[in-house]
Amino acid sequence: MSRALLCEHAGAPLRGVERAIPAPGPGQVLLAVEACAVCRTDLHVVDGDLPFPGRPFVPGHEIVGRVVATGAGVAHAPGSRLGVPWLGWTCGRCEWCLDGRENLCPEARFTGWQIDGGYAEHVLADARYCFALPEALDAVHAAPLLCAGLIGWRALKAAGPARELGLYGFGAAAHLIAQVARVEGRRVHAFVRPGDEAARRFALGLGAASAQGSDEPPPVPLDAAILFAPVGALVPAALRAVKPGGTVVAAGIHMSEIPAFPYAALWGERVLRSVANLTRRDALEFLALVPRLGLAIEVETLPLAAANEALARLRAGAVTGAAVLVP
Ligand SMILES: [Zn+2]
Ligand SMILES: [Zn+2]
Repeated sequence: MSRALLCEHAGAPLRGVERAIPAPGPGQVLLAVEACAVCRTDLHVVDGDLPFPGRPFVPGHEIVGRVVATGAGVAHAPGSRLGVPWLGWTCGRCEWCLDGRENLCPEARFTGWQIDGGYAEHVLADARYCFALPEALDAVHAAPLLCAGLIGWRALKAAGPARELGLYGFGAAAHLIAQVARVEGRRVHAFVRPGDEAARRFALGLGAASAQGSDEPPPVPLDAAILFAPVGALVPAALRAVKPGGTVVAAGIHMSEIPAFPYAALWGERVLRSVANLTRRDALEFLALVPRLGLAIEVETLPLAAANEALARLRAGAVTGAAVLVP
């Protein structure tokens, strides 16, 4: 038998269940989960900010596991370690899949939402959407790379070659991407919840050039800003913080309503865009970079049974870095 945490209704606490260990179908791998990081998107799916998938599901899409069994056509050796990200399946035929933007596939299915995820002892995954991970990292430290790292990387690319880069919301993704940006020679300006002195110190400790409340202006005009916090009011704030020609990237899957703002905040060829999901190419690019980034990956580990507590801590803004569940 295998333990999993099930989301049965939006807004209800996850419930622990014992299930038979699933058998991999053609093209699938069965993994024994070693670690699964907790992402803000998990909150959006279990709280009902995103549509409920129509059946109870297991959340979790930053999964590190060892191969236990494989279905037909899968070459991974038993015992090898794989990472499973948010993007779980795409159609391969639509205009977006065909032009390298499978992250926008209208039929895409996502791990820990339409596909059962990693808040479990075992998980099934489509082998084509799994990735080998840098061997130097243990499972707990590799797990946050699979969404905080990958979607953060896609957001950083969308920000363009910005030298002065603002990061709004300094959680799991920002703490990784701040370090990547510094390796690339950028200056990072962190914007945290007003009054969150611990987050401010955390950002400065990771090499941010400045750290301030999100209600404060930046010390210098920014070339670009990435919004990791799901707070719509930060959109006009970030637009005002970037120079003419600057870009504001919204990196979350859900955001509270954006308040009206004067056209002057967008004028000057400022660009406002979102980043949605990830492509497998993003994952291969980022995971290939990781060994030479020297990332300090800050994690807080909790047992799988404490998943509800981990979600509550994330909701309250009490997690420094990434929370990671360990079965
Ligand atoms: Zn498609
Ligand atoms: Zn995520």
